[in-house]
This record gives sequence, C-alpha cells and structure tokens, in this order.
Amino acid sequence: MTPGVRPLVAGNWKMNGLKASLGEIAAMGEAARAGGAGAAELAVCPPATLISQAAALLADGALAVGGQDCHPKGSGPHTGEIAAAMLKDAGASYVIVGHSERRADHGESDALVRAKAEAALAAGLTAIVCVGETRAEREAGRALAVVSGQIRGSLPPVAEPSRIVVAYEPVWAIGTGLTPTAADIAEMHAAIRAWLGEIYGPGGATIRILYGGSVKPANAAELLSLANVDGALVGGASLKAADFLAIAGVYRNT
Ligand code: PEP
Repeated sequence: MTPGVRPLVAGNWKMNGLKASLGEIAAMGEAARAGGAGAAELAVCPPATLISQAAALLADGALAVGGQDCHPKGSGPHTGEIAAAMLKDAGASYVIVGHSERRADHGESDALVRAKAEAALAAGLTAIVCVGETRAEREAGRALAVVSGQIRGSLPPVAEPSRIVVAYEPVWAIGTGLTPTAADIAEMHAAIRAWLGEIYGPGGATIRILYGGSVKPANAAELLSLANVDGALVGGASLKAADFLAIAGVYRNT
C-alpha cells in the first residue's frame, strides 16, 4: 500500500463471460455497496459485449466497469476494433492497455500501447497500462531493465496521474499459479515508483501500481500488504464474485 493512495482491485475477465455471467457482476456490486472492499475501489473489465449491461447494473458506481483494450484511433476503417470513446459511451470508466496477452498475441509494441493509453485519456477513461517481464527475461537478470523500458515506452509522457494506473504483471505468473517472491515484487514496485517520479514528478507518487499474476484469496493478504502495491489486477479469480470479493476483502477494514 502507498499512504494516501486509494487502492484499486480490478478484474480482467479476458475472453470469458456471457449474459448469464452478469449475476456475478451484480453480486460484486452488492458486496461493494455493503462495504466489502473497505476504502478500496473495485472495477470489473468484462468482454466488450457485456459492458453496457454491466454498467446498467452498476449505475450507482459501486463498482467501475472497464474495457480490456481500445484502438489508438477515435474512429474509422478498422473492422472489429473498439474505440476508447465507444467504451466510454457504453459505460466504462477504465480500459486495460498493453496486457501481455495482447502484446504477445497481437505483437503490440510499447509505442502502440502508449498510443492506446493516450486515446483512452482523450476519451475520458483511466488507462490501466500493463507491463511485465517473461520468465526468460527474469532468469537472465533483465526483469528491471525490461520493465523500465516498457514503462518509459508505454506510458503517456504527459498525463493527469489520477488517470493512469500501472499494472505490473510478470508474464510467467499470469494464469500459472506462480507468483514472484514478496521481495521481488517489492523491488519491482519500488523501481516503478521511482521511474514514475522521473516521468511525472511529484504526481508519480500518487499513481496506483497494481500487482497482477495469480492473485487468489489465499495469497492476496500477503501480496497486497507490500509497499507500493496499491491493489491488484486479477484474471481467473475475478470470474467468480466470491473469489474476487475475498481478494478485495483484504481492504475491508480500511
Ligand atoms: C491477468 O491476466 O491480468 C491476470 C492477472 O491473470 P491471472 O490472475 O489469472 O493470473
């Protein structure tokens, strides 16, 4: 946690979820209204097909809704793509950009991720910018160098700090049940905090840095208590309201 910074627990549903899954989102909203996440903010990023319906269920803002990606352009001949303004129009207030699955599956570069983040900001969304090293890069002792390059290349150089969230997600920890040691996470988050200060000045101290990668109810308390860990980006465990809320429940008494 970072003193004075409101934590965020965001769920990334990836390519999962049909209308029948909206009950999970409704349950998350109900628990959030009842104070289940304390002072923490909650968000869920379902597939784009469910954003409008999720937003309608959460119209009181108990839980924010986000997209999982956006196009860098505002509109035009880009079949199958979704513009940031469309996400906003559907009821989203967040969008994930630069997730490692998109970087790997679609060859997304840091420059493209930055352009997407800038499009998100221009549309009035908050951008959750993902960074993280592969296993080979960590084993080669290059994790800090890789993430430093991603931070410098993917973040918009000029931004209101409250509209930027960084998610550190080691690629090898996503969906694998593996997590880095607490010391490795703390080291990376401290380094990211320092780089954010170089980019944004004093405002960098207030940017939320989430940890993501196999966060579960069983390890959330330890991971979320680390210095400079201001919440989590949760994949698999966000599909079930009970698991997601058990993770967010770490903040119940805050
Ligand atoms: C993710 O894909 O953003 C993620 C963190 O996935 P998981 O929690 O399933 O590892």
